[in-house]
Amino acid sequence: LKTLVLAEKPSVGKDLAHILGCRNSSRSYIEGPNYIVTWAMGHLAELADPGEYNQDWKEWKLEVLPTIPEKFRLSLIGRTRKQFNEIKKLLHRSDVSEVIIATDAGREGELVARWILRLAGNKKKMKRLWISSYTQQAVKTGFSQLKNSKEYDSLYYAAQSRAEADWIIGLNVSRALSTKYDARLSAGRVQTPTLGFLIQREKKRKNFVPKKYWNLQADFGAYTGLYRDEKNNPDFFDFESMQTVKKDLEGKSGIIVDVKESIHTSPPPLAYDLTALQRDANRMYGYSAKKTLDIVQTLYERRKILSYPRTDSRYITSDMVSSIPDRIKALAHTPLQNFVKHLDLSKVTRAPKWLVNDAKVSDHHAIIPTEEPVHWDQLDSDEKSIFTLAASRFLQTLSEPFKYEVRTLVTKVGEHSFFTKGHRTLSMGWKAVVGGASGEDGLEEDFQSLGVHRKGEEHEIHTLKHMEKETQPPALFTEATLLEAMEKPYKFMKHPKLKELESGLGTPATRADIIEKLLSSHLMERDGKSLVPGGKGFELWDLVPESLKSPVLTAEWEAALESIAKGSLRSKEFMNRIIQDSRKLVSEVSGSKLKFTPRNLSNKDCPLCGRKLMNTKDKKSNAILVCPSRSCGYEEGSGQKGASQNEKRIARREMKNYGHQDREETFSLADMIKAKNQKRSKK
Ligand SMILES: [Zn+2]
Repeated sequence: LKTLVLAEKPSVGKDLAHILGCRNSSRSYIEGPNYIVTWAMGHLAELADPGEYNQDWKEWKLEVLPTIPEKFRLSLIGRTRKQFNEIKKLLHRSDVSEVIIATDAGREGELVARWILRLAGNKKKMKRLWISSYTQQAVKTGFSQLKNSKEYDSLYYAAQSRAEADWIIGLNVSRALSTKYDARLSAGRVQTPTLGFLIQREKKRKNFVPKKYWNLQADFGAYTGLYRDEKNNPDFFDFESMQTVKKDLEGKSGIIVDVKESIHTSPPPLAYDLTALQRDANRMYGYSAKKTLDIVQTLYERRKILSYPRTDSRYITSDMVSSIPDRIKALAHTPLQNFVKHLDLSKVTRAPKWLVNDAKVSDHHAIIPTEEPVHWDQLDSDEKSIFTLAASRFLQTLSEPFKYEVRTLVTKVGEHSFFTKGHRTLSMGWKAVVGGASGEDGLEEDFQSLGVHRKGEEHEIHTLKHMEKETQPPALFTEATLLEAMEKPYKFMKHPKLKELESGLGTPATRADIIEKLLSSHLMERDGKSLVPGGKGFELWDLVPESLKSPVLTAEWEAALESIAKGSLRSKEFMNRIIQDSRKLVSEVSGSKLKFTPRNLSNKDCPLCGRKLMNTKDKKSNAILVCPSRSCGYEEGSGQKGASQNEKRIARREMKNYGHQDREETFSLADMIKAKNQKRSKK
């Protein structure tokens, strides 16, 4: 009897087949004496469209919302139907005794496999391959320690609840907004509060009034000092009072009244989880979150030199410590070898506490190099950049702390005080490993190098100068800071619940997709390295239900999904809450007295309905004109394709006038979910 192995995508399937000794290959599977390896292409199934439950739900009508299926149905994705049928055939072969789920070892990967097996009517025994790297050794060990699939049931329930919640919230709120205001508006469980960060920031910046202020700096010859008033505040907001103090100080000398010296140690920054790696890659190389995820996925799956990327842990487990020397050896023929010599190799297996923490590793550990030797010349430049970031961070975590001495002086001139801060490096420690991101080292920018000084020393003021400064508005978001806001919303919005929940918006695996979705739907736009809300983003914001604007509701949902995955919450309870919330959100929209104000109107009238057309951009960022009315749907300027679509729209409109059902109308959220799934399968 044979075992069927289901991988997430063809490339991984081929690798697994090779390791399992399967040689007999066909278009959709590879067979060997003991195993048959086949593959999904990301999701092959999706939640059925509303129209498949109920004829009434096909049309966009405010009265029928919210649409909530009693039991969700699945439907096959057309493009990959053939592959599904092949898998189904294999599953039902009489010589196949059991199936091993070998899809991506995470929440979404579990769902990919379970939906296929559910639709194929699988009755055979299921096991799970759960690995954190794709080296030959890791795969072999994984196959010798297969898990019972039951251990992952909770993860499957969490994944399914996530999908159903996105369907219920996104579809109903988007449809409610679109029909209520006859406009093209789409909202979502994670994307809307994420957009909220940008909108709030934009409002703060708009209301910001810059203020001039002044600092006073005295040069005492051996060092400089910064003036601070009795409340320890260095800033004068009034030019006159600064001038008065300055006059009072001229030609005088000061006495050192206080000297402090202290030794500081700063431990290495933590190893990377996906979000932290995406943030640093954005800061250092300007990479988008999506680009970093794609590269790190290649380094994991194809190059096999980095461990599983979609992780939210920044630690490794104690049983991995013995593998550290081999992981270092794998870097032998890379530029990183230069840093290995800074390491005390006899110490690396002593398991530093900032790297090893069993309690903080759940499904996967931090992203670190595998034992697979790196073939540096085969990597492209993007792969080299990301690998260098991750591997040098790993080497940093194996290094000693950075040690430095801080010296502070207080120099008194009459009644006025000047402050001086300096530092001296004692031992470089992890900072000797450069090439990666610097991380927090505890040093402040205004530190100067400072010799030894004693209390009672007298120093004359050589020069006294004032520096004019201006208060700065809060900075625009970049992908790095937006990822941080999604991960730790409590840092960006004061709300007691956010801190307590410890949950963010989305998961490490989905955050890049949310950012891409906001960009492709023009709710958000790039402005150089910054991200700003688009005109469509503001339009949506005016109308979106209040509770969906704040990250609190979504963080609560996310925390509930984590509880389902851990087995401490039943998915039924969560779904009941989602259904209640969707009813509330829809009634907030339908009862609203707000008015839709389209932004960026042009001077041109819509040839179909007579409204003013809106300036916007198509998916490829070409300028186009669209009718603000969703039910009209007229577009122009997007080339030949747009023109023929308009012909269809006109024809449809005419048919409608004759009482025909508008059959082609689909809803935007289904498109959105489809696009997301297709993105997964493309990888
Ligand atoms: Zn129109």
